[in-house]
Amino acid sequence: MGRKGFLRKRRRRARALSRRRTVLLVTVLCLILGSGFVVGLRYTQSRANKRTTGTAGQYLDDSWQKTTGRHEKALSPKKRRKPETQEGRVAIVIDDLGPNLKHAERLLDLDRHLTLAVIPWQIHSEEILQRASETGAEAILHQPMEAHHEEGSGMPGMLYLRMSDREIRETLAKNLDAYAVVAGMNNHMGSALTEDERALGVVFQVLRERGLYFLDSRTSAQTVGKKLARVEGLPFFERDVFLDNESDHDYMAGMWDRFIGEARTRGYAVLIAHGRTESIDFLAARLPELGRDGFRLVRLSELYSGDPDA
Ligand SMILES: [Zn+2]
Repeated sequence: MGRKGFLRKRRRRARALSRRRTVLLVTVLCLILGSGFVVGLRYTQSRANKRTTGTAGQYLDDSWQKTTGRHEKALSPKKRRKPETQEGRVAIVIDDLGPNLKHAERLLDLDRHLTLAVIPWQIHSEEILQRASETGAEAILHQPMEAHHEEGSGMPGMLYLRMSDREIRETLAKNLDAYAVVAGMNNHMGSALTEDERALGVVFQVLRERGLYFLDSRTSAQTVGKKLARVEGLPFFERDVFLDNESDHDYMAGMWDRFIGEARTRGYAVLIAHGRTESIDFLAARLPELGRDGFRLVRLSELYSGDPDA
């Protein structure tokens, strides 16, 4: 082979080599990009699953999303309902706090995952909310509302059916302005007002504007809370069991079993107890059992999922 032929062959070989290198480089690049994409996809999915498993049936709202950053709108309803096995979650809300500081202090010492419902304009309301926020406990406004019976009427900051939309709005706004640390609200009494679409509708609009949730204490079987929350797109919870309509131990033990049974079958449950000595004693004895039985006590807002059918 002459020198020219040799050079041509060398050039050809060099070209072939560089083509092979290019192909190899492109292949490697594709592999890197491809695996990055798959990992990214998996990560997004696992985050989405984590955010949506084993949670309570509540409604989605933009302001809520802004407040907590916990929900992602892009998730399909089907995905949200995907059953996942995990420990049951329970929320315990303590009503009627405000008149007694010692009870509130005991509760805060007991467990900072208890949710404290504080009546506005009571002697210790402000201090209890302050301490709750320092401890990291969730607090909600325990809003007095008109009941069918006269008892409890005349409480400061209370809402009545005879009020105009504007009066309801202003009264509620004043309460919420005074206690800005609350994450939501539930009704104190309210068997009459929670049956009324107009009055409760105004309440829900105010809560929505402020990015707050509503817990229906269900003091009336005819409450329109759930239906209205759906219409308003308000984050919404319902009380499953009242612990202490009677304060004797056997009664409370029966209600506690009902609460645990509900959490076991459905994966979550909401209990309301009251800030009374007997109830706090009872909770102090029972709370340590929760973990042993595979349940986790969470703040009420942690049960939120955005799923209206759960
Ligand atoms: Zn109450």
